[in-house]
Amino acid sequence: MVEPANVLVVAAHPDDAEFGVAGTVARWVREGKEVVYVVCTRGEKGTSDRMIEPGSLAGIREREQRAAAQVLGVREVVFLGLPDQGLEDTPDFRKKVVRAIRTYRPETVVTSDPYRRYIWHRDHRIVGQVTLDAVFPFARDHLAYPDLLEEGLEPHKVKEILFFGSEDVNYRSDITTSFDVKLAALRCHESQMKELNVPDLAAWLREWSCSMARGADCELAEAFHRVEIKR
Ligand SMILES: [Zn+2]
Repeated sequence: MVEPANVLVVAAHPDDAEFGVAGTVARWVREGKEVVYVVCTRGEKGTSDRMIEPGSLAGIREREQRAAAQVLGVREVVFLGLPDQGLEDTPDFRKKVVRAIRTYRPETVVTSDPYRRYIWHRDHRIVGQVTLDAVFPFARDHLAYPDLLEEGLEPHKVKEILFFGSEDVNYRSDITTSFDVKLAALRCHESQMKELNVPDLAAWLREWSCSMARGADCELAEAFHRVEIKR
């Protein structure tokens, strides 16, 4: 029997969770919450480096993700090993996310917003849609995936979903006191921070976090679309 977690973060690639929710994760961990990451791919395609092989890049990205999770105090990182730039909305992928939800039984699920328009990584769109469907209704209904039930994975009702990368923000989470931990976690993604090509990561992140706090009663924030699930 796996110990339940309060929060399950489902991300397409290594570093997505750090950009999207790491400040909030660090705060939750400090408050005593248990957080588990599901990272769907190993990020083996996202580079402009012509010299690096996808296999070695996958290894680097996985190590960087584990290091970032450790900085934040994330309890466990589960890699699904699906292909980068190859996520599809399939019953099999959905079932993997349902399995994670029923295994860790979180109150809160965090993922990327599937409804962001235009330029948005296809994997981010797909993982958001699949996770949303997995939460409701597939994780909740015992007749969905009867084989999971046979394995002892009982249905589970998630209470809320937070979508990062949203254009329709209705929830701002205060990260003023966990900003430095978010920055440290992002720095673990060395191979991706190079690609980001900002001269001063700390200043860039502070400015972005400040803009996400607009309208909220805090200095620095992460912004989400939050959906409460009442059924
Ligand atoms: Zn990504």
